[in-house]
Amino acid sequence: MGGDAVPNPEEPHMTAINAEDEVAGLCRDLIRIDSTNAGDNAGPGERAAAEYVAEKLAEVGLEPQILESDDRRANVVARIAGEDSSRDALLLHGHLDVVPFDAGDWTLHPLSGEIADGCVWGRGAVDMKDMDAMILAVVRQRLSEGRRPPRDVVLAFTADEEAGGTYGAQWLADKHRDLFDGCSEAIGEVGGFSVTIDERRRLYLIEAAEKGIAWMRLTATGRAGHGSMLNAENAVTELAEAVGRIGRHEWPLRMTRTVEVFLRETAGALGLELDLDDPERTVAELGPLARMIGATLRNTANPTMLEAGYKANVIPQTATAHVDGRFLPGYEEEFFATLDELLGPNVTREFVYHDIAVETGFEGPLVRAMADALLAEDPGALAVPYTLSGGTDLKAFSRLGMRGFGFAPLRLPADLDFSGMFHGIDERVPVDSLRFGVRVLDRFLDGC
Ligand SMILES: [Zn+2]
Repeated sequence: MGGDAVPNPEEPHMTAINAEDEVAGLCRDLIRIDSTNAGDNAGPGERAAAEYVAEKLAEVGLEPQILESDDRRANVVARIAGEDSSRDALLLHGHLDVVPFDAGDWTLHPLSGEIADGCVWGRGAVDMKDMDAMILAVVRQRLSEGRRPPRDVVLAFTADEEAGGTYGAQWLADKHRDLFDGCSEAIGEVGGFSVTIDERRRLYLIEAAEKGIAWMRLTATGRAGHGSMLNAENAVTELAEAVGRIGRHEWPLRMTRTVEVFLRETAGALGLELDLDDPERTVAELGPLARMIGATLRNTANPTMLEAGYKANVIPQTATAHVDGRFLPGYEEEFFATLDELLGPNVTREFVYHDIAVETGFEGPLVRAMADALLAEDPGALAVPYTLSGGTDLKAFSRLGMRGFGFAPLRLPADLDFSGMFHGIDERVPVDSLRFGVRVLDRFLDGC
């Protein structure tokens, strides 16, 4: 467990740290450390990034632990003692890995971390070395000034989020749950960014729910034989029919509470009419956000891979396909019941990857602390909860009993297609947005 060291502000060795001034540099440094994760456990790993983070935390008196789940797959955990350690602790988590890139597509090299046109550029600038840098900068300034958070704060910088957290959050939750003792709430990625309504007003989308994940391999088994003969048990035919049924299925609208609050608040702010029985009309007016929000109105299942056979005149005994299924919080059972009907009796399914959906209410002191911190730095801020169609490390930490939110606060320029930059090319984050983020996080930590 990390130490409980809280530096004494009177100690002379601690030089002043200004989070706003150093955050872009920290983000640049982290981007320059290659921590790409293709999901095959064969990349550079997160070790170098973890050592960088641990050093930055140790400089301000913390005792971070580097925990390796496999060779170079490194996580960092540290605990900051709060004013009142009898209260439940708060977890701040960020992942250190990034998805791969094709450098030829980029304007600036994705590992350059270059600061140009007012932005920090590179893989991870948005997902999520930006937030890693903001957490580091805020914690460093606060500790250098001897400012404790009101309660214990645990910091976790994780490996492997981009491949499901097997070597990161899932592993920490399984093998090192003692490091998270007392943590009842968590703050992580994909939320807190602004969407401009007009000159004066901005929505800040705070993630309060995530869809569940079901990546499945389907297998049809039939009777192998000569392609010239009659065969009523053809595995390819059987599988193709099941894949067609799944791909064409129209999943019913399912209004979950987070999506409903999001739609009500957003429609109200934009002056749009909202019919909860036909929300797609409202969603269609949300611009680039429609991609993200539209996927949270129903369960989905998309066929993604097909494999069968080896010669034109041989009927193979088996045929397989992969399906990417996503289910809403509260609708997992319905999802699989429907899916099994669509599969039919002759096609089986197994999981390639399966993880839970999560959802927490948008109320309570922590939600107020986020909304108040945003409002203090942006008087035109309206905090709204939303459901993420993908998944984050929050799923793993929720297994330890934490409720969590995506809150990496950034005030963004109106014309930046932010959601399009996750895993996209020319990923970049405005320096001003980072500075805004550390001010918000600092206030948030005062009020947490
Ligand atoms: Zn991420």
